Amino acid sequence: MLFDNSYEGLPQEFYERINPVPVQDPKLIIFNDKLGKILGIDKNKTPKQLAELFSGNVIPKGSSPIALVYAGHQFGHFVSELGDGRAVLLGQISTPEQKYYDVQLKGSGQTKFSRQGDGRSPLGPVIREYIVSEAMHALGIASTRSLAAVTTGEKVFRETATPGGILTRIAESHIRVGTFEYFAAKDKTDNLKTLAEYAIKRHFPSLKDSTNCYLSLLEQVCDRQIELIAKWMGIGFIHGVMNTDNTSIVGETIDYGPCAFMDNYDPSTVFSSIDAHGRYAFGNQPSIAQWNMACFANCLVPLIDQDLDKAGEQAQTVINQFPSKMNTALMAVMCKKIGLDSSKTNSQETLSKLLRIMLDNKSDYTLTFRYLSEIIKGKRESLFKQQFLEHNQISNWLKEWKELIKDQNLDKKEIASSMESLNPVFIPRNHLIERAIKAAVENNDFSEMKTLLTILSKPYEEQSKYDEYMKPPKPHEVVHQTFCGT
Ligand code: AMP
Ligand code: MG
Repeated sequence: MLFDNSYEGLPQEFYERINPVPVQDPKLIIFNDKLGKILGIDKNKTPKQLAELFSGNVIPKGSSPIALVYAGHQFGHFVSELGDGRAVLLGQISTPEQKYYDVQLKGSGQTKFSRQGDGRSPLGPVIREYIVSEAMHALGIASTRSLAAVTTGEKVFRETATPGGILTRIAESHIRVGTFEYFAAKDKTDNLKTLAEYAIKRHFPSLKDSTNCYLSLLEQVCDRQIELIAKWMGIGFIHGVMNTDNTSIVGETIDYGPCAFMDNYDPSTVFSSIDAHGRYAFGNQPSIAQWNMACFANCLVPLIDQDLDKAGEQAQTVINQFPSKMNTALMAVMCKKIGLDSSKTNSQETLSKLLRIMLDNKSDYTLTFRYLSEIIKGKRESLFKQQFLEHNQISNWLKEWKELIKDQNLDKKEIASSMESLNPVFIPRNHLIERAIKAAVENNDFSEMKTLLTILSKPYEEQSKYDEYMKPPKPHEVVHQTFCGT
């Protein structure tokens, strides 16, 4: 790995220098060869060498490990000191294509930000993050990625003793809204400016010459959130902990905790055991993203203009645009899922009728849209209709929808392939992930995890061998709650 540690160049208040705490007996679970190749990592390493490297027992040449400081709003409440309490950044690496990525070990031991925590991660959440982040990437959704996972040979203690694991995470950035909030809350405007300048130089270089680069930064970060959340909504992803410390400024999905995919459509769906009031329910995600961006805007006010009233107004204008931009992006994704053009009002009406019927019929979010795409290709409607308990309403809706499709005068094949490119066949369903985690934790068996990763690497393609993995859970398999496992 070729390290180029730009974050280290920032003032000392931005991080703590700290090495990962060695573990007893690291064993490689998986190494992501394809990603390794993109990153230019030497592939001639033995599993033992990879385990040493990705457990933090051996620190690669050129790395200079640090734990980053940040703050954040957690479930709406401000916490002034968070930071990497169970992770270290090994540094930034540059790829053969001259792209820069952060390499982070998660579960790597205590840092000064650990508070009461042990700095470790149970194996279960490592498996979940590995599977879901790689699935998100394959689904075409911006996400941090997983390069490797290891077991530590040590137990971690939560409700019971459970095997420990470490995930190697690759991200375009680990700068969070919470990183800005840390300095803003302390009125450290110099550090805030240094952070904003670093973020612009590294992640938004085109803003360098704009008339007010901090205002433009706010706009771009909002736009990336909008694009991201619209895509989450399109595939039924629920992040579960959309706190500002889990909001990346580059618009990547980050910090997979109690995240989950919705099976049957219901905007009020919540899985996370810590989300008692449903703040981060599926349907709330667009408005929560706006709330998070308002926090970001507050941080930037002192940089936008010395006249704070004027700066506040300018920032507010950007935030005021959020709902309509979000709605446009969401409608574009959702209408495309049913093969219609979102700029037409009847498309949006048709979409909302369908969603209403799906809600009443507890229709599977993934299969309903996928089978709809297949009707255009002349396949039998029965698979689609099977997603509904009662057929009258949906039959009427289908008639209406077919008229709209016909009116578009477009090539049917093109409509079908456009729909299929947004309507996956396979998603990482919760019961499948739970099964993979159970096998790993109870029997040290990673075969189910690997099968899932194979299937989910081509989520938009039919894979007849794996039909079983398309199906929603049987009643006894339904997962009602997911846990952070921190
Ligand atoms: P997260 O749930 O990943 O968003 O984490 C929230 C905060 O708690 C972050 O500052 C983490 O670093 C910290 N944290 C979570 N789990 C642990 C742990 N086991 N030990 C130390 N800090 C932790
Ligand atoms: Mg977090």
